[in-house]
Amino acid sequence: MVINDQEVQEAVDQFMAGLKRRNPGEHEFHQAVEEWVETVMPVAMRNPECDRNQILERMTEPDRIVIFRVTWEDDDGHARVNRAWRVQFNNSIGPYKGGMRFHPTVTQSVLKFLGFEQCFKNALTGLPMGGAKGGSNFNPKGKSDREVMRFTQSLMKELHRHIGEHTDVPAGDIGVGARELGYMFGEYKRLENEFTGVLTGKGLTFGGSLVRTEATGYGAVYFGRHLLEQVGDGYDGKTALVSGSGNVAIYAVEKLNELGAKVVTLSDSGGTIYDKDGIDAEKLAFVKDLKEVRRGRISEYADEYGCEYFEDARPWGVQADLAFPCATQNELDEDDAKQLVDNGCMAVVEGANMPTTLAGLHVFEQAGVHFAPGKAANAGGVAVSGLEQSQNSLRISWDAEEVDKRLKGIMSDIHDQCVHYGERDDGTVDYVSGANLAGFNKIAQAMLSHGLV
Ligand code: NDP
Repeated sequence: MVINDQEVQEAVDQFMAGLKRRNPGEHEFHQAVEEWVETVMPVAMRNPECDRNQILERMTEPDRIVIFRVTWEDDDGHARVNRAWRVQFNNSIGPYKGGMRFHPTVTQSVLKFLGFEQCFKNALTGLPMGGAKGGSNFNPKGKSDREVMRFTQSLMKELHRHIGEHTDVPAGDIGVGARELGYMFGEYKRLENEFTGVLTGKGLTFGGSLVRTEATGYGAVYFGRHLLEQVGDGYDGKTALVSGSGNVAIYAVEKLNELGAKVVTLSDSGGTIYDKDGIDAEKLAFVKDLKEVRRGRISEYADEYGCEYFEDARPWGVQADLAFPCATQNELDEDDAKQLVDNGCMAVVEGANMPTTLAGLHVFEQAGVHFAPGKAANAGGVAVSGLEQSQNSLRISWDAEEVDKRLKGIMSDIHDQCVHYGERDDGTVDYVSGANLAGFNKIAQAMLSHGLV
């Protein structure tokens, strides 16, 4: 069936109008769906089964959302109240799977966008995992360990009813690292009286997988290596900008260093450091201690090493060959994208989820910048979470070399799928379309097999 661009655009507009009507005010969710539907609509229009079975409508409607109050007590004996969610989006290809985020900016819209993208990301890994996301507007900054523990235990008192190793397997995300996952696991174990792989990202002494901590950052850099090789290039001698200074950013820098690139920036919500000499292994050890142990601000790096610090700024004004946004959604907008293009940036690899706005993405597309979307490039984290589940089920632990080898294989497969579905006539690759279509095809086939459920 021949369908022209105008017909596709009209169908996209009509679909988005309906989605916005059904989900008022959920801007992040609208944005994630719009980026997706622009690429899958032509395929859906060519396949009458999609319309007959309302595949696009069903894929954009979560299976369920659990919303609950979390009441806890702070160190002064005052009661505190937060809101928490678990968005179980789609379990067509496996149990729900996706991280928990603790951050004051968490809303239902943010978790719906994350849960939606998680479905396609998980499908790309080749592992049997459906998509979900959860979290709370709780702010862990400035809280004592005991306050975080009491909050997390209170949250789990409700969440435990809705999750399980065959139902829904949460993991970490912004504000949820080893400490929070440890408390969550301990409380789940107490409430259910069972020791299972119900969470991933666990500590190594109680069922965690080696390389899980590093997996998202490493995986993004492996993906970037394939992307560069696709155009006959590599990391050697390249300068890279990395944003954020959390889990993803730290291990992206570690692997970029190892593979010959020089990373010159890191950031947090306070600002950006610019170290023109490069953030080498010794300086990165300082950042790990600063962020993972002391929970300090990135400005302290500038004090320590005497480099530049730009308060309230993001890294995108600095000249570099590569950009790895690894902090949060919508941290790279249209103006940032134009600045990167003007400064000669040749590739953008998203370590974070949806860090680039839709307008920013269009700037990169028009300028011919190679662009790897988060749902493909940052899938290494959930892939190793899937491997953690496998190890828990088998009651064995693979060594780091084995897990890293599997991670590399999965990132290479994801890259191949993007090329297969996204190669343009001129031989360049549209990674956004490629990732969306590969994930869509797999989930759609499973949904069609299951009937109208
Ligand atoms: P962390 O909490 O470890 O680090 C997040 C970093 O981003 C911090 O430096 C934080 O700064 C910064 N940041 C967070 N929110 C904002 C904001 N609103 N404005 C500016 N800076 C902000 O999280 P992760 O590294 O785990 O996650 C980073 C991104 O990667 C997220 O988009 C996440 O969804 C995605 N991701 C993570 C995976 C994982 O395995 N951890 C897997 C796949 C994707 P500050 O400390 O000042 O808040």
